[in-house]
Parts: sequence; C-alpha cells; structure tokens
Amino acid sequence: MFEVKNLKKTYYPKKGVPVEALKGVDLRFGECGLVFILGKSGSGKSTLLHLMGGLDTPTEGELVLNGVSSKNFKAADYDNYRGEYLGFVFQEYNLLPEFTVEENVALGLELIGRKAENVEGMLSLVGLEGMAKRKPMELSGGQRQRVAIARALLKDPQIIFADEPTGALDEETGKSILTLLKELSEKKLVIVVTHDREFAETFGDRIIELADGKVVSDTEEHGNEE
Ligand code: ADP
Ligand code: MG
Repeated sequence: MFEVKNLKKTYYPKKGVPVEALKGVDLRFGECGLVFILGKSGSGKSTLLHLMGGLDTPTEGELVLNGVSSKNFKAADYDNYRGEYLGFVFQEYNLLPEFTVEENVALGLELIGRKAENVEGMLSLVGLEGMAKRKPMELSGGQRQRVAIARALLKDPQIIFADEPTGALDEETGKSILTLLKELSEKKLVIVVTHDREFAETFGDRIIELADGKVVSDTEEHGNEE
C-alpha cells in the first residue's frame, strides 16, 4: 500500500520568484493497476512523480510505503526506498549507448549491488527475445523503451513509475508500450504520467488529473479522502 500525504513542492530558482509546483496532494494507491496522472504541461506531473519516486524531496508532506513514512528519511533511506521498491521508465529511455541490451538491463540491478539473473527471461517478457547482444542504436524507439522497462522490472519492484513513456514514440508504438505496461499492472502498481488524455482513457484503470499543482479530479474517489 502506497500513500502520499499533503505533498508540496516549491522550487526556488536562482533568479525570479519561487514556483509552487505542488500545492498539497493526497493520494492512496492499491497493490496493482495502471494509474495515469494526467495534466497539461506545467501542471506538476513530473514534480509529483519525482517526489513519489524519492528522486527529489518535498517541501512539505510525506510518502508512506508499506506503513513506513518518509518523514525522517535521510539520503541513504531514499536510496534504499528507490532501490528496493521502485522501477523507473522515462521518456528518453536513459540507456547507455556503449552497452548491449542485456548489459543495460543487468546494470539496473548491479548498480544497487545485486546480481542480475534471468535477463533473457525478462527480455522475452517485454518482447525482445533474441536482441540481447544488440546496442541501443540498433533498436527502434519502441524497442529501446522495452529495454528500459525490462531494466525497471528486473529487480521486481513493487511500483513502476513512468514519466511520459510514450512521449518520443509514434502512436502505434506508444500503444504497444502501454499495452505492455497494462499487462504488467495486473501484478504491480504502475503509475504513468502523461498529457495524453486519449491514452489515459483507453488504458487507465484510474485517472488522476492535475492542474496548477493540485488534484482536480480522480476517478477513484477514495484516493482523495482524508
Ligand atoms: P509537468 O511535468 O506537468 O509539465 P513540472 O512538474 O515539470 O510539470 O513543472 C511544474 C511547475 O514547476 C512548472 O511551472 C515548472 O516550470 C516548474 N518547475 C519544474 N521544475 C523546476 C525547477 N527545477 N526549478 C524551478 N521551477 C521548476
Ligand atoms: Mg513533465
């Protein structure tokens, strides 16, 4: 069970006025399902995802995963939180060009000091069988995103976070990536940030809409209760 309480984030740019990017977000999530965070550019989607993923720290508020609060988290606790429980998929894939597909996938685990096993199995799960020895440059955009998904999955995370995972893909390829995330969400919580309402409505089990740093609608009402 994952919960965020009163999450607020104010950015203080070196020049100019502070930006209140998130103004108090409360959400509760179940064990599985495909949840979309929908909103226009600048509404605070990436900020919310970065905070939920422990990639950045909130100005106020807390995360609660499996009953453990982030209130007193130090940097090492955030590292552990991300490493143990979360997988990330980004728009730009974040693959290392010099490494093969299987090396890129294994790296996700090796970076947190665990041995990578069953990389081949993971590659076939995401539809990349036979491509282990290729370099990212030898793949299409959709295949690269599948590598990133395999990398995120290998450590068997409790939650997968994806920020605009189809943003760099054509519509058909984007659909195939969302179909894959939908399948994975039968057993895991998958939280996807997008500005694409049609994708959210087609694939989402739940849609949370953000505007101006606040939740303005949520198809699952209990998500916003006190
Ligand atoms: P979205 O992902 O929905 O496009 P973001 O979460 O990236 O929105 O941004 C929300 C708001 O916070 C925007 O007004 C953006 O300009 C601002 N913002 C995001 N990151 C920073 C930052 N590092 N410093 C200052 N302002 C930021
Ligand atoms: Mg964004």
